[in-house]
Amino acid sequence: MKYDLMIVGAGVLGTFHAYSAAQKGLKVLLVEKDSKPIQATVRNFGQVIPSGMTQDLQTTALRSLEIYSQLQEKVDISARKNGSWYIASDDQEMKILEEMAACNMNSGYQSEIHDTLQTLAVNPALRKEYVKGSLFFPEEFSVNPLKMIYSVIDYIVQELKVDYLPNTKIIAIENKSNEVHCRDSAGETYIATKAVICNGHDYQSLFPKRFLESDLELVKLQMMRTQPLSTVKLQGNILSGRSIRRYESFKNCPSWGGNKQNGDLEKYGIHILLKQEIDGSIIIGDSHEYSDIDKAANLSFKMNQSINQLMINEAQKIAQFPSWDMAEYWAGYYSQHKSEHFYKDDIDGNIHFFTAIGGKGMTLGPGISEKNISEII
Ligand SMILES: Cc1cc2nc3c(=O)[nH]c(=O)nc-3n(C[C@H](O)[C@H](O)[C@H](O)COP(=O)(O)OP(=O)(O)OC[C@H]3O[C@@H](n4cnc5c(N)ncnc54)[C@H](O)[C@@H]3O)c2cc1C
Repeated sequence: MKYDLMIVGAGVLGTFHAYSAAQKGLKVLLVEKDSKPIQATVRNFGQVIPSGMTQDLQTTALRSLEIYSQLQEKVDISARKNGSWYIASDDQEMKILEEMAACNMNSGYQSEIHDTLQTLAVNPALRKEYVKGSLFFPEEFSVNPLKMIYSVIDYIVQELKVDYLPNTKIIAIENKSNEVHCRDSAGETYIATKAVICNGHDYQSLFPKRFLESDLELVKLQMMRTQPLSTVKLQGNILSGRSIRRYESFKNCPSWGGNKQNGDLEKYGIHILLKQEIDGSIIIGDSHEYSDIDKAANLSFKMNQSINQLMINEAQKIAQFPSWDMAEYWAGYYSQHKSEHFYKDDIDGNIHFFTAIGGKGMTLGPGISEKNISEII
């Protein structure tokens, strides 16, 4: 069988490329090397936050909100419109939030300034002494990363007739007389008119030389999840003062001045994000360690417990929970381009690369995949 489009990798980028192409009526094959996707797409917070994106990406991020919302109406993909809260911890951060609110007013993106008491009324688990005030984005979503991608894959297979092959690692792709031939590690060949490679941070299996020369870097993030805390109430995506000082979107605010120097927090790129899941557990993160992709093995496979402790110490300044017992710790990895928003390229107009989207794939994935499919097809 010859497909219109073959997609390598069933993370958020690959799966939403498949979704958009199938919506256009194309016959699509989606392949995944593992028995199910287990990389960045399931290891993250699930914060869908256009507010964290630079201006040039916001329209695409807003389109992602629409796509998540449309899908959620058809099937439960765990998308919840419960907003994002940026919490200021000092007067300068509060000023930045006010400046951002003014910008949003001009651009028409809804956001609301809340004072300490208003913020604590909705998020009583935050510490009064930390909260100077907040900026709330009511339109934003969260998804459960352990559920979302598997639900979307089921949907596109059952409803959009996408063919999906897990346990299928593609090790060679070539253009032969205007057909793309993809070979897997078991020796099977799949033929399509075009292919899109959304391989996350796997740069060994396909075109390793091209990726090595592409100015990409690998990032390791440490995360943890508390035991379910039924008496704790946190609404939506919670982003702390250090996030305000770290996110690109705030850099144009006149009062933005980068992060306060703070030895180890700076060294490990720690800023605290919190998200409560339906079962009451709270995801806490994150840290950032970087490596060039040719030295990726330098990012240890081990969890650095001193980084986890730094994050817990910092989170305890922001929130008060009845217990800080963790149910689990994990590390997630993503790749990013050192100077572009993502890595996009093609060979002969038929073999397309779309990967290295960094820490924004859950927010941009659906919208940017739709845009890319429109450009490719
Ligand atoms: C800890 C953490 C927290 C994050 N939090 C957020 C957040 O809150 N909001 C947000 O917007 N973003 C967040 N991100 C970023 C987001 O998770 C990533 O940008 C996104 O998941 C990347 O998706 P992807 O499809 O490019 O890659 P991946 O999820 O890595 O998927 C790539 C897939 O391709 C498969 N594959 C690779 N090579 C082959 C091959 N040769 N053959 C077949 N299959 C192959 C892999 O097995 C994998 O399943 C976070 C990331 C991490 C790690």
